Amino acid sequence: MFEKYLDELAAEHLTRRVRPLESGTGPTVRMAGREVLLFASNDYLGLACHPEVVDAAVRATQTYGAGSGAARLISGSLPPHQEMEQALAKFKGTEATLTFGSGYLANIGAIPALAGSGGLILADRLCHASLIDGCRLSDADFRIYRHNDMNHLASLLSKRRKGRPTLIVTDGVFSMDGDLAPLPDLATLAHRYETELYVDDAHGTGVMGHHGRGTIEHFGLETRIPFHMGTLGKALGSSGAYIAGPEQSIQYLLHRCRSFIFATAPPPASAAAVIAALQILQREPERRTRLWENRNRLFAGLTRAGFSLAPSCSPIMPILIGRADKALDFSEQLLNNGLFAPAIRPPTVPAETSRIRVTVTSEHTTAQLEQALTVFERAGRTTGII
Ligand code: PMP
Repeated sequence: MFEKYLDELAAEHLTRRVRPLESGTGPTVRMAGREVLLFASNDYLGLACHPEVVDAAVRATQTYGAGSGAARLISGSLPPHQEMEQALAKFKGTEATLTFGSGYLANIGAIPALAGSGGLILADRLCHASLIDGCRLSDADFRIYRHNDMNHLASLLSKRRKGRPTLIVTDGVFSMDGDLAPLPDLATLAHRYETELYVDDAHGTGVMGHHGRGTIEHFGLETRIPFHMGTLGKALGSSGAYIAGPEQSIQYLLHRCRSFIFATAPPPASAAAVIAALQILQREPERRTRLWENRNRLFAGLTRAGFSLAPSCSPIMPILIGRADKALDFSEQLLNNGLFAPAIRPPTVPAETSRIRVTVTSEHTTAQLEQALTVFERAGRTTGII
């Protein structure tokens, strides 16, 4: 069974490989004994290896140990977890937050808790896999609406049985396309049809909005969308996820999210790292300025070179290729020229939409961006993509 499955994958150019790194994640990484430029990480603000963040994690480990011992409802909650949730709530301007071991856990825990038997979930077609899995785990019925298509969503909403409890589910920034959900329209539809809205802002947190509070801040919707989810392993440089919202909704989730109740709390080190990262993020807005300058420079350069880019509005800039073998070939050429940006293929993205998911961070230098553009262009020409 295993052999047949793996052979079939190989025939379709869909085999995946975990590439070992020999250094921490940064604008450059060591791979197979050589230094390569990394354009694939979600560490958007370069905080994962920031000395203050690392130091906070080390100190928390020395003080509280390497592990948390059990779920927080079982063995108690360590100070870094408490402080992290308070710091996140303050940053987000919400009454409370609840944190999870990962974004995946937050989504598969929260969605079944928010939509149950007799209810309906309407999710964007390009929602992250963890949202889709959360929808599948729920006892509610689950339908997909076309990507960012508000007419389709409105028609599904209007056809519902009157008064049926409904949850709309979307990414804030779509993880494989880099575009944004039309949150103002979603908030309006949610209000008009009296439904709940669940926004996963994994890639917006720390990146979008004047203060980096996310896509909801970007659209000025803090009061209209008081409840949402985000992750801590991307711009916040650590790991885990939060759900932010009014105190009562957070208390409800604490009693209902199985992935919170039944999972060991993340290590104190990762919570302490989040606290330190939040301080830097707020103290140094210039990181976000650099991130957007880098993003705009790379996006303009790739467009000028003739690449077909997804309609991105974020530091995620997918180069659309189509066939999986062509995307693989392009990615190999990039690596041969000293740049790592992997090919993203089905089932992560729909069939015939394989791509190179290019991400940029605040820490890439102008020289590195110029070097990257040279490499992209050379590999693009060698492989016939441009
Ligand atoms: N939601 C989105 C939109 C994501 O991109 C990701 C991770 N790539 C997750 C959730 C899952 O988060 P985590 O990696 O913390 O499990």
